[in-house]
Amino acid sequence: MRIVMIGSGYVGLVSGACFADFGHDVVCVDKDAGKIAALQAGRMPIYEPGLEQLVASNVAAGRLAFTTDLTEAVAGADAIFIGVGTPSRRGDGHADLSYVYAATEEIAGALTGPTVVVTKSTVPVGTGDEVERILREKRPEIDVAVVSNPEFLREGAAIGDFKRPDRVVIGTNDERARAVMREVYRPLYINDNPILFTSRRTSELTKYAANAFLATKITFINEIADLCEAVGADVQDVSRGIGLDNRIGRKFLHAGPGYGGSCFPKDTLALLKTAEDFESPVHIVEAVVKVNDSRKRAMGRKVLAALGESARGKTVALLGLTFKPNTDDMRDAPSIAIATALADAGVSVRGHDPEGTEQARQVMPDLTYCSDPYDAATGADAVVIVTEWDAFRAIDLKRLKGVMAGDVLVDLRNIYRREAAAQAGFAYTAVGR
Ligand code: NAD
Repeated sequence: MRIVMIGSGYVGLVSGACFADFGHDVVCVDKDAGKIAALQAGRMPIYEPGLEQLVASNVAAGRLAFTTDLTEAVAGADAIFIGVGTPSRRGDGHADLSYVYAATEEIAGALTGPTVVVTKSTVPVGTGDEVERILREKRPEIDVAVVSNPEFLREGAAIGDFKRPDRVVIGTNDERARAVMREVYRPLYINDNPILFTSRRTSELTKYAANAFLATKITFINEIADLCEAVGADVQDVSRGIGLDNRIGRKFLHAGPGYGGSCFPKDTLALLKTAEDFESPVHIVEAVVKVNDSRKRAMGRKVLAALGESARGKTVALLGLTFKPNTDDMRDAPSIAIATALADAGVSVRGHDPEGTEQARQVMPDLTYCSDPYDAATGADAVVIVTEWDAFRAIDLKRLKGVMAGDVLVDLRNIYRREAAAQAGFAYTAVGR
C-alpha cells in the first residue's frame, strides 16, 4: 500500500513510522519545514521512546520518507491520512478544524485518481461529511471515499499502542474503503486485534466518548481524594478497593493534580460544544471539565498551604513539568497552572524535567531550569513532585532534604510513602491520604 500521512506530529509521525514498519510505503508530510529537515537528517522533532530507531530502520529500508511537498506525495496514493492538529478554537472551545479543512483543500488539488482519505485527527461528528463535500466540490470527477479512523495511542507508549491496539475503529459505509482499510491494518489481524467497523459519525463520536470517559474516571477519583483528605481516609486504598472490581477496572484511578495534555482538555470541551449544537446535553462531562479546571490551580494553593504562613519570597522546586512521563509534550500540563499560582503568590519557581525542558521554556520562560532533582531542590523551601517520571521514584530523599533550605515535600502523584519521607526529615503532603 502507498500511504500518505499529512501532519507529522505526535500522531502522524508515530502512525506513519508504524505503517512503514508494517511493510507499507509511507510518506509523511508536514508544513513545518524545520520538522521535515530534522526528520530527513535523522533527528526526531519530539521525544517518544523507541521512535528514533523505528524511523531510522524504516528509512533505511526505503519504506519511509519525509517531505513538505504534499502534491507530489498524494499523487497515486492508496490512502491519505489527515493527522494534523485539532486544538481548541480560541474563545469558544469548539475544535478548530481549520488545519483539517486546509489539508483537505490541498489534497483535493493534488488528487490524481481514486483513493481513500482518512481523518486520523480527532474531529467532531460531521467533519467527515464536510471533508467529503470539499473533495467532491473541487474534484467531482474523482472517486474518493472519506473514512474516520480515530487514533487512541498514548504519548509515551505510542509505538506499542499503535502496534498492539485494544481496538481499531474504522468509520465508513463504503465497501471499497473498507477493503483498503483492512489492507492497511492487515498486519494487526495476525495478532487478532479487534477491528471495529462502524458508520463514520459513530466512529467520530467514539473517540470523544472514550476520552470523555477516561477524563471522567480521573476526575472522579480526584474528587474522592479530596473527600478522603476531609474524612481521614486513604485514596490509594479506596482506588484499589474499587479498581479490583472488574466492572470498574484499576486503570485511570490514580489521584493527582488533574488531567492535562494535548487531548483530554480540548476533547472534553469539544464534546460539550457538539452536545450543545445538537441540543443533547452531557451534564457529566460538563461537571468533569469544571472540576478539573479548578483543580489545577487548587494544586498551587495546596503547595502554598504546605509552605505555611508567608509564602512570598520563598522558593519552590517543581519536579516533572510535562503533562505525563515519557513525553516532552507541555500542552495543558498541570505544571503550568501550578507554577502560575505560585508565581502569583510571590514564590520563585525552579523546575526540572528529564525531557521537556526545551518545550517548557517556551510556555514558562520565567522558570529557573535545573539539570536534575538535586540541582532544582538546592536552596528551595519546598519540592513538589508534579509528574511521576521513573527517575523521581528513586530519589535519595536524605540527599534531597540536605540541599534544601526548607523541609516541605508535596507529592502530587503519591509516589512516596509518608514514613520514608518523614524519616528523611520531610514535612510530607500527598493527595487524598
Ligand atoms: P501535533 O501538533 O503534534 O502535529 C500536527 C502536525 O500537523 C504539525 O506538525 C503541523 O505542522 C502539521 N500540519 C498542520 N497543517 C498541515 C498541513 N496542511 N499540511 C501538512 N502538515 C500540517 O498534533 P498531534 O498531537 O499529533 O495531534 C494530531 C491529531 O491527533 C489531533 O487531532 C489530536 O487530537 C489527535 N490525537 C492526538 C493524540 C496524542 O497523544 N497527541 C492521541 C490521539 C489523537
